[in-house]
Amino acid sequence: MEPRLSRLPGLPPASPACGLYVHVPFCLRKCRYCDFYSLAPPHPVSDYLEGVSAEIALAGKAGLSCDTVYLGGGTPSLLPAAAVAGILERLHGAFRIDTGAEVTLEANPGTVAGGQLASFRAAGVNRLNLGVQSLREEKLRFLGRIHGPAEAVRAFAAARAAGFERVGIDLIYGLPGESAGEWLSDLEAALALGPDHLSCYLLTIAPGTPLGRDLAAGRLQAVAEETAAELFLLTAARLAAGGFVHYEISNFARDLGGAGGPAVSRHNLKYWTGAPYLGFGPGAHSFLPPRRFWNLPDLGRWLAALRSGKPPAAGGEELDRGQRVLEALFLGLRTAWGVDLAGLREGLGWDLLAERAGAVAEFAGRGLLRVEGGRLFPTARGMLVAERLAVELS
Ligand code: SF4
Repeated sequence: MEPRLSRLPGLPPASPACGLYVHVPFCLRKCRYCDFYSLAPPHPVSDYLEGVSAEIALAGKAGLSCDTVYLGGGTPSLLPAAAVAGILERLHGAFRIDTGAEVTLEANPGTVAGGQLASFRAAGVNRLNLGVQSLREEKLRFLGRIHGPAEAVRAFAAARAAGFERVGIDLIYGLPGESAGEWLSDLEAALALGPDHLSCYLLTIAPGTPLGRDLAAGRLQAVAEETAAELFLLTAARLAAGGFVHYEISNFARDLGGAGGPAVSRHNLKYWTGAPYLGFGPGAHSFLPPRRFWNLPDLGRWLAALRSGKPPAAGGEELDRGQRVLEALFLGLRTAWGVDLAGLREGLGWDLLAERAGAVAEFAGRGLLRVEGGRLFPTARGMLVAERLAVELS
């Protein structure tokens, strides 16, 4: 199944403005597959807010123009609405944030109560991403999520009632033993809610997590690569039929028609198009071309650095030309926009069609990509193996 490309030319081009990411490292309980940096209760919220304010003040000296803000985690919806409003205020004070900026908050369906979502909306959040993961009870239990299907349905309705016009849903598929029929019925249940955006992630089991230990001990078996590919292609086909544009390996945007175009995540586009972004909070990553750097993934050490007036970076790097070619190919082949061949040639001196003509023809023959109008486009099957293709083509 080819990704739907027909409406992509109508999309706004990737913005050169900066994206702002705030990592909120708190969760009520650790999910069984997760290795993101997050802390179980009790949460030192005031220490965290002090650190975020200090970090924003330090970075804000750059006076960058920004047009997206993303509060991710962890579980940002654990923060009181006043704390979210405070963070947004500080960001507005330190950066030139576009009046039409996309401001997203990730919410866990098990943590949204009462008028909290309306307060987030009033604070300036205009896009909500709900970590639903599944609408099947046994799947949520296996993943160790804190919510059940009914809470997910209630959270979605509450998001609409709170005035969110853009609501996205995250789903996970490819659990050990999950059949295509089971996954498709889960996907149907999510579609019935009417989301504007769907992120469908193949379950990855990180080593050292409870599921990782089960896997290592042979108590679990990961899904076979062919099964995963079949589920991925079924997902792409079902969502294309449902009016969603498959614009990145795991991401699908409802085609709103008219000038609106697909309801893509403008913030996440920054990561895939090489645009600059700045991250705040423990473990957050930043990219100010050509340099990328990342924060200490530990709240205590991150805060100690900030209290002594230092940037809380744990490390950084500048990519050499070969790494930049590899990255441009990998990122481009993950998206339905593909790779701009002239940009690659003029920007990085890599004439792909001259250097790798044989490999391009071979992958095109295998239905993984195609060249059209000066771009290299992946098919849906090609997106799935974007990393391998990028290595072969770089
Ligand atoms: S809610 Fe998200 S960040 Fe927190 S433990 Fe679960 S998967 Fe990880």
